[in-house]
Amino acid sequence: MSATVSVNAWMDEAAAAITADADRLTQLDSAIGDGDHGLNLTRGFKAVVEALATGSDGLAPGRRLILAGKTLVSTVGGASGPLWGTALRRAGRSVGDAEALDGPALADALDAALAGVIELGSAEVGDKTMVDALTPAVAALRGAVEAGQPLADAIAAAAEAAAEGARSTIPLQARKGRASYLGERSIGHEDPGAASTVLLITALGRALED
Ligand code: ADP
Ligand code: MG
Ligand code: MG
Repeated sequence: MSATVSVNAWMDEAAAAITADADRLTQLDSAIGDGDHGLNLTRGFKAVVEALATGSDGLAPGRRLILAGKTLVSTVGGASGPLWGTALRRAGRSVGDAEALDGPALADALDAALAGVIELGSAEVGDKTMVDALTPAVAALRGAVEAGQPLADAIAAAAEAAAEGARSTIPLQARKGRASYLGERSIGHEDPGAASTVLLITALGRALED
């Protein structure tokens, strides 16, 4: 039997990883933004975990993703709330009423998530945003799933691609979001949203069930 992703476990693992790395995310955002990225996502994913713990009984994975996305939008004021909220809602809509989130469903879901982020924020690869981490992650996941790799390996490839994408933001000048106000002074720092995207994609690998 092939592995699937548990949405509740994914959000639990994401919340734990973000909470553990909140200071680093905040430091990155202090360098080129307003220093609230760690706090924004910690608050948002804590609310998501609570919403799922109390309100997801009997819900299909797609519905759980939509609930998670709505919760992020309503609890995070910064750019990352609407962006990740839209991403998760779009992912959930793409999963629809499917009973399990297997490799192909996850690849479609992350494609839809990325499309939602791009539609809302109009960022392209190279603008120094979360899109720089999410785009290669989605491509790597898709490629590995289509090559027939086990889901755990496909997610590991996606996480590595996200990390490389996040590192690639360091020499870039920001063209979207708050960091763009800094102009050339945004060069030399990793984008905080790209850094947190690595955590979210990596967390998928700890949310697998048989
Ligand atoms: P805020 O900038 O409102 O304080 P956060 O600090 O929580 O929000 O999130 C900042 C991150 O959001 C950035 O590092 C970047 O990755 C992402 N971001 C900002 N604007 C956009 C955009 N238009 N498209 C994609 N991502 C964006
Ligand atoms: Mg910020
Ligand atoms: Mg802010």
